[in-house]
Formats: sequence, structure tokens, C-alpha cells
Amino acid sequence: MTVITNHMPTAELQALDAAHHMHPFTANGELSQKGARIITRADGVHLTDSEGHQILDAMAGLWCVNIGYGRGELAEVAARQMRELPYYNTFFQTTHVPAIALAAKIAELAPGDLNNVFFAGSGSEANDTNIRMVRHYWALKGKPSKSVIISRKNAYHGSSVGSGSLGGMSGMHAQGGMPIPDIHHINQPNWWAEGGDMPPEDFGLQRARELEEAILELGEDRVAAFIAEPVQGAGGVIVPPDSYWPEIQRICDKYEILLIADEVICGFGRTGNWFGSETLNIRPDIMTIAKGLSSGYAPIGGSIVSDEVASVIAGDEFNHGYTYSGHPVAAAVALENLRILEEENILGHVRDVAAPYLKQKWEALTDHPLVGEARIVGMMGSIALTPNKEARAAFASDAGTVGYICRERCFANNLVMRHVGDRMIISPPLVITPEQIDVLIERATKSLDECYAELKAQDLLRSA
Ligand SMILES: *Cc1c(COP(=O)(O)O)cnc(C)c1O
Repeated sequence: MTVITNHMPTAELQALDAAHHMHPFTANGELSQKGARIITRADGVHLTDSEGHQILDAMAGLWCVNIGYGRGELAEVAARQMRELPYYNTFFQTTHVPAIALAAKIAELAPGDLNNVFFAGSGSEANDTNIRMVRHYWALKGKPSKSVIISRKNAYHGSSVGSGSLGGMSGMHAQGGMPIPDIHHINQPNWWAEGGDMPPEDFGLQRARELEEAILELGEDRVAAFIAEPVQGAGGVIVPPDSYWPEIQRICDKYEILLIADEVICGFGRTGNWFGSETLNIRPDIMTIAKGLSSGYAPIGGSIVSDEVASVIAGDEFNHGYTYSGHPVAAAVALENLRILEEENILGHVRDVAAPYLKQKWEALTDHPLVGEARIVGMMGSIALTPNKEARAAFASDAGTVGYICRERCFANNLVMRHVGDRMIISPPLVITPEQIDVLIERATKSLDECYAELKAQDLLRSA
């Protein structure tokens, strides 16, 4: 593969970036001193940076490039669609073929009676749709007081004011006047960090029953919906104990609370099924989708809505929508992505080849002195770094100090692995091969070794 060299030198690009580009979730002052890493191209599971490094992307971008990079079919489809109909809206009683075809395809793939799609440009926008849709649903059913949405601490549902409020990221809530009213957060089922002496299954039940306690405390007539990721992603790939979801489902059924499964990461094969809800045996009324829907090749998201909810919403004008709802180019690209996922049996590759192999290798990382638990569901995994495994101890240093050191070692070893606090997480392209998984694990182990040495040298191997 030829590396494109006809761009400016890295330092010049970095200086321009620092001068004009404000990065998301970044301390931009600090970054402009250091210089951003510049990614110039990508193919399969590999990124190339402006210095010519070949980096294994174990995060699939931001959990989204499910089919891998460099699939020319999507480029062809996008070019064809741009020539034919680059844009038209879906407001005002109009539609177009890509939106029709994609909605029908998603309805076919989604379980149960989830047969209706409201398109958005991203996961954040889709969750904003969900906030308004569930409240409007109850209003139309004559119960306008049911407006509270229960979510979880450390959940991630997006970065707009609405979706960021739904999310439970304290760092986000501390800035810019969030959360909006009538969002209530319960604790997450993070046994490693918060389970204390309880067996995981007891802890899972206890955390699920916080939903029931919240409903009773707030009043059944006040609660519209519960939203959760089947497996928390950005919160650190927190896999709930097996007891958790059945109890949540029981409570949602008992109190007739709408269940919103945020499938933005778990959807489209990440857990080995089309949707995480299938893997975890959940029956949601609404699913949020984005990311893997187009494998990140075009920005698109949406809400998949049950027949019951959609039929109630259909009874009135829903005063909501986005200029790019069902954007024809993004929809055509997403449809082609789904065709590839299906025709190449990529979910079968995940289930039969990649996920079992990765699970075995990933869980063996617990042999490393720094690694406490290792968790994995399908193709999303995490390890908890700890100075003391038996005590499941946190580090004495500020949360994230150690994780950041480890992440920097990973980059130096040409591996993208992200840190959330002191957890390291992966979510590689679903098409990753066993040979590439070997490389991933080799580089991760080397990075853990180097991190361990650095922690020793800096006297950071101390428990909180
Ligand atoms: C990324 C993410 C979102 C937000 O999607 P954007 O496209 O970034 O707006 C919402 N929910 C979950 C679970 C996510 O991981």
C-alpha cells in the first residue's frame, strides 16, 4: 500500500490544527502544546498517521467502523447517490428511496414489533428524539405527568443538552447547565468498582431494584421511561451481572415504564447479534441507533420504535425533526453497510471466530500483575487496572492517571486502546482476524508491561 505523502509536514499541520480547530472532549490548550496525532488514511483494521506509522485500531474509530476501513463499495454508493439525489428532506409529506429502503431494512432486522424508524444525524440527536417522543407518547395517552426519564450514573447517551442530561457523566453535568429537568439517575451495575463484598449476582439484583425504588419514590404516575445501554460502553465497558437485566425487564413490565435500549454501540453486530438487546434478552420499546449503522462512513442515527408507541405518536403532529433526518447519501451508505454485514456473514464471523478467540486471549490478560478483572461481550471488552487484585483496589493517584499512562504506551506500540479512568477498553472492527487479534494482544501486553515499569519507577503502584 502506498502512503500518501503529498500533504504538509506534520508540524505544520499540527500548528494549523492548534490555531483553528477546537477538539471535542479535549483540553485544547494542552493539546496545542503537544500537537495532535494526524491520521491520514486507513484500511481494514489499520490506521496510517502522518509519520507513516501503521496503527492497529482496536477501537474501530469511536466504536463505529464495524466492517473495517477502506470498503470501496460504500464510496461508490455515496458517489452514485450524490449524483442522483444528493439531498432532499423528509418533512412536509415527502420521502425518497434511500430513506424508505433503509427504514424497511432496519425494521426487518430489528426484533419483535420494532418496525418504525425515526431518523437523526447521530446518536445524540436520536436520544433527543427519544426524550420528546416518550413524553409526548404519555401525553397523548392522557398521562402528561409521566415525564421523568430514569437513567444511570456513568451512562453515555450523547453530548447534546438533552442526551448529555440523559447520560450520567458527572464531568459533563458540571459544565454548561446540565442536566435538564425530569431526568433521574440511579447507580450502575459496576460490580468491580462498587460491589464491595457482595456476590456479583446479588449486587446485580440490588442495582436493578434501584429502578423500582426510584419509580416508587418518584411515583408511578411521574415516570415515562428507563434508558440504558445493554452493555455500558463509554463508561468503561461495564458488563452487568447476569441477574441485572431480567430484573430490570420485570420492573419495566410491572410498572408499564417504556424501556429505551441505547444500541448505539451494541447494535449492528458488536455483541454477536444484530442488537445487544438480543444478546442480553431485553424487550425494548425503543432502540437508539447510530455508529455501526453506517460503520461510521456517513453520519446517521435514529430511533427504532415499537408499533404501539409509533401508532400513538402517529395520532398527532410530532413537532420534531432534523434537516438531515434520513439524509439520502447517509441512508444509502448505511444500507450498503448493512448489505455487507449480512451478505458477508460478519455476525457469523464474530460469533464463531473472532469473539470466542478474542475472549480467550482477553481474559488471559488477568495473568498480568496490573490487570484485575477482564470482561468481554462479543467484540467489546475492558480490563480494570489495579495495584491490588484481591482487594479490587483503585490507585491512590487521581482516576485516569494510570489509564492515561497505559494508553500512551499503547499508542507508542501502534495500538489504539482507549482508557476510561483506569479501565482500558477495546471495540475493534468486527472483521478482525485471529492473526490480527494475536497482534492486538501482543501489543497490549507489551504496553501493560511498559506501563507497569513506569508505575514502579514513578511510585504509582499504591492503593487508594
Ligand atoms: C456514541 C454514543 C451516543 C452518541 O452518539 P453520537 O453519534 O456521538 O451523537 C449515544 N449513545 C451511546 C451508547 C454512544 O456510545
